[in-house]
Amino acid sequence: MSYRAAVLPEEYRVAGEDKLAGRILARKKELGERLLILTHHYQRVEIVRFGDEVGDSYGLAKIASRSPKAEYIVFCGVRFMAEAADILGRPGQKVFLPNATAGCPMADMAPSEKVYNAWDDIEERIGKGRTVPISYMNSSAELKAFTGMNGGLICTSSNADAAFKWSYERFEKLFFFPDQHLGRNTAKKFGIPKDEIALYDPRQPSGGIDDARLEKARVILWYGLCHVHAKFRPDHIDQWRAKDPSVRIVVHPECEEEVVDRADAVGSTAFIVNYVESAPAGSTIAIGTELNLIHRLALTHKDKNIYELSGDTCPMCSNMFRTTLADLCFTLENPDKGELVVVPNEIKRDAKTALERMLHIGK
Ligand code: SF4
Repeated sequence: MSYRAAVLPEEYRVAGEDKLAGRILARKKELGERLLILTHHYQRVEIVRFGDEVGDSYGLAKIASRSPKAEYIVFCGVRFMAEAADILGRPGQKVFLPNATAGCPMADMAPSEKVYNAWDDIEERIGKGRTVPISYMNSSAELKAFTGMNGGLICTSSNADAAFKWSYERFEKLFFFPDQHLGRNTAKKFGIPKDEIALYDPRQPSGGIDDARLEKARVILWYGLCHVHAKFRPDHIDQWRAKDPSVRIVVHPECEEEVVDRADAVGSTAFIVNYVESAPAGSTIAIGTELNLIHRLALTHKDKNIYELSGDTCPMCSNMFRTTLADLCFTLENPDKGELVVVPNEIKRDAKTALERMLHIGK
């Protein structure tokens, strides 16, 4: 689904950064505990500074589920994150997305109807009850509900291992969507051989998987990917190592398998933040993840040499970048006109089941 951004009144569009910052602070003070601003690590530096909490999608979902005092949750991130906050929040809480057009192209690669059709096709060909859906957090609320309804759970890059373990204790096969790379990289950790991993491409008849391969598959991956993390290539790592043998390479598991295989460390956004924080002063670290996070890590760890891994691409998430100070200020000052994210009750119930299963297994 596409969303249109409200055209901000001129006074917000022309206001300078200092003026907007002052008004945001004043509104935060006025609302006190009634307001909770959650900011994802990939947001602009000037937005993160106003977050009551900054984190990855797992951490922020947990906080949203445990903040009963907040009347307003303003989620500076992308739509699926605000939806998860609305699903997990208490009734009556209002969740806002400051920029209505901030979506996730990876989540959009899994339209619910296409995933339902694929599920029906899989069950028809190999029989019911053998497969469980695992939905990456980066998915629509409808798909989260579908997952909950079919006995599955949500995962993030922080707890994909735990989600695989939980699922294999109960089912023979996993249907993982939308991110093929996180799914493949996690399957590999579980020692699943390549010929037991199948890629379901809805653009091809039967997803491009013949019956024998489907029968053999222990993991069926949806064909989605993150175009930001797909920018990193194995030769970026080779070039770094040739230039500086002491460099440490850390990447996000949404990167391709060949990139993950060559890196020194791989992990979620929270893992990467922790990796940089705990590295000794003077370390040189090249990071394969979203640019705004790398930029902020470089600013806050001046005793270390922090670089973006590719050097020749711009791994910035333009959707995360859409939220501006003007959007945030407008939302705080005009809650009646801001982008309120409301997941319908009939979707909420099953989506909540799937999300709570995730929170229950932890990391
Ligand atoms: S970085 Fe990738 S997965 Fe994350 S919101 Fe942007 S497009 Fe989606």
